Amino acid sequence: MTWLQIRAETEADHAGAAILIGRVFAGHPHSSGTEASIVQGLRAAGALAVALVAEDDAGLAGHVAYSPVTVDGRYIGWAGLGPLAVHPRRQNQGVGAALVAEGLARVRARGARGCVVMGDPAYYGRFGFRVQPGLVYPGPPPDHFLALSFTSDDAQDGLPKGTVAYHAAFSIDAAAIAQRSGSCLCGRIGFTVSAPLQSASACHCRQCRKQSGHVYASANVAKSAVTVVGAPHLRWHQASAKVRRGFCDTCGSWLFWDPLERDWTSISLGAFDTPTGVRLERHIFVSDRGDYYDLADGLPRHPQ
Ligand SMILES: [Zn+2]
Repeated sequence: MTWLQIRAETEADHAGAAILIGRVFAGHPHSSGTEASIVQGLRAAGALAVALVAEDDAGLAGHVAYSPVTVDGRYIGWAGLGPLAVHPRRQNQGVGAALVAEGLARVRARGARGCVVMGDPAYYGRFGFRVQPGLVYPGPPPDHFLALSFTSDDAQDGLPKGTVAYHAAFSIDAAAIAQRSGSCLCGRIGFTVSAPLQSASACHCRQCRKQSGHVYASANVAKSAVTVVGAPHLRWHQASAKVRRGFCDTCGSWLFWDPLERDWTSISLGAFDTPTGVRLERHIFVSDRGDYYDLADGLPRHPQ
C-alpha cells in the first residue's frame, strides 16, 4: 500500500470532503443523496464529534464522521458512525477500516460508551459491531443496524435498550440541500456550490455543440459560491473576448462556461452528483441547433 495518513479533518478539507462524499455516494443504491450535506449539517451544528480524513499522495482518499445519537430521546453517551466514504481509487485497500478503527478509538477516548452503525454485518463485525436485540432503528433491515459497547458493564444484558435516533442533520430533505457537489470524469477536479442553481437550460448553439459533442445543459450560480478543488488541472479555452470555457486537462470533461465580466458562472449539469435538485427550464439558441435531433420535451424554446 502506498503512503496513507489518517488525521482529523481541518477547515481546508471541508470542500474536498464534500466532493469526495458526493462522488462516492452518487448513484449508490442505498444512498440518500444527502450524505455530504449531512456531514456539513453536523459540522455546522457542532455535532461532528469526530471527523477524520485519510490522505495519500493524490489527495483525500477517505472521510468518516461520528456524531452523537439518542436512545428513546435521551443522550446516554453513544455515538453513530457514518457516513463513511472511501475514494474509488483506494477502495478494498483497508482505508475504510483504518478510518473506522481510528474513529472508534477517538470517540472512545472522548468518553463515548458505545457506537452504532448502519451497514454490512460482515464488514463491521470485525470491529466488534453486532446486532443487539432491543437496540433498534426503524427503517433499514434490522440485521444491518449494529452496535458496539465500549464499557464492560454494558455488555450483554446491560446494553441500552430503546429506539436510536441520529442527529437532526441526518433528516435533511434531498430537495433542500444547500450545498451540491460535482466532479470531472476522472475526479481530478471537483467543485462545491453553496448557492441555488439557477436558469437550468440546454444550449443548442454551435459552440456548445462543438465543445460538448451535443447539447450543453448547464445552470448558473454566483462565482462567490463556487469552490474548486484540483484547480491546477483546470484548463481554459478563451472562446471569445468575454467568455472562457473550462475543462479538465486529463479527462477532458467540460465543466464551466465562464463569462469574465459577470459575477456568476455556468456549470455543466452533467458534472453534478445526483440528485442535482434542478430541472431543465428551457432550450436556448434553438435557431442554431443541429439537424440530427428533434425537441419533444415541451419546454420553452428560445431562438437565442
Ligand atoms: Zn478529469
